[in-house]
Amino acid sequence: MSGLSVSQWLRRIDRAKFRQAIVHWYRRKGRKLPWRRTTDPYRIWVSEIMLQQTTVATVRERYDSFLERFPSIEILAKATREDVLHAWQGLGYYRRARLLHQAAQVVVATMNGRFPQEPAELQRLPGLGRYTAAALASFAFDARAPILEANTLRLWTRLTASSGDPKRAPLNDQLWTLAETMLPARTSRDFNNALMDLGALVCVPKMPRCGDCPVQRFCQAFDDDVVSLLPQLKPRPEKESVRHLAALIIKGKKVLITQRGGDQTWAGMWELPRVERSPGESVRAAAARAAAIALVAPTADQWNIGRRLATVRHGIMNHNVTLDCYPAATSEPLRLQPSSRWANAADLARLPMSSPQRTLLQQLGDRGALPWGSTRSSICRVRNRNAAP
Ligand code: SF4
Repeated sequence: MSGLSVSQWLRRIDRAKFRQAIVHWYRRKGRKLPWRRTTDPYRIWVSEIMLQQTTVATVRERYDSFLERFPSIEILAKATREDVLHAWQGLGYYRRARLLHQAAQVVVATMNGRFPQEPAELQRLPGLGRYTAAALASFAFDARAPILEANTLRLWTRLTASSGDPKRAPLNDQLWTLAETMLPARTSRDFNNALMDLGALVCVPKMPRCGDCPVQRFCQAFDDDVVSLLPQLKPRPEKESVRHLAALIIKGKKVLITQRGGDQTWAGMWELPRVERSPGESVRAAAARAAAIALVAPTADQWNIGRRLATVRHGIMNHNVTLDCYPAATSEPLRLQPSSRWANAADLARLPMSSPQRTLLQQLGDRGALPWGSTRSSICRVRNRNAAP
């Protein structure tokens, strides 16, 4: 790779001219994003949390409706966790929504509803890491705060033709220092936005548009003809395939659902009772176990499992999940766990549920397996003696 180090690159370039070139480009070609029309820290914070793990296009679709529902940090802090999770549906990574809610409560309870302006103080709030705290300080308060995320990481790595994985030490530390050194003396908002947009629009991961790049003359990777070799990111591990089994248990016009607890993925969300199949376990045994986890009684061996009703495939973290749903019936009396309840169609629309669960319910509805609508099926009705509450 290049014979230059990050510090040599810094000595070689004219920093003022670099800043001027990139900010000038940004003012003409930068993205007009809804969260850039404001300096309100609440609205910028919501956008930054949404943008973690979610594309700009998806956030664009969801941002305004979330803010209509929670127009101020005080209203967000007062909302129930279920309301916040419900508004977050479809964005995924629901831990972000839980932390957003917690952070709103901390800011309202201990900071009079006002965000601190220093990145170090912002970083103490739930859900704000080094990048998000700096981005909020920069975009809301124009504080001199460096940022480093996927786009800027790639851009700086190529500009300096740095070898090694930029997400790891020592290169990651060097790039944070570089990002800080390159900031203008007093402000950072336009400069940081310009860096991100250049990474997102021009210095893209595959086939970067070097011919349109406003900082090509500063780019060591371009000079050395190694652009396509950078950044040297560690390959992502292969996703592991897992099988989940869900049980459809019906009583009257209602289905049994359960709420995920603790710190589990999808904590606070509602779903049909579901388990991960254990090694060597049959799908029917796993489906019976799924039925039993929502109840104190009966136990798994007291359930009859019917034929598979629906399958949803989705990805979560490092897993490719195949979620199969089976009808479960028993003649034993049902005693629900405190985290379980019966729900009709209106309840399901109101309660927070993950996208895979919504897709699963949609499939069940389309196949007439749910106990409402004209195509209702008797295949998964439960012969039990409990009356629906
Ligand atoms: Fe990226 Fe090419 Fe611009 Fe270098 S010249 S910063 S590789 S787009």
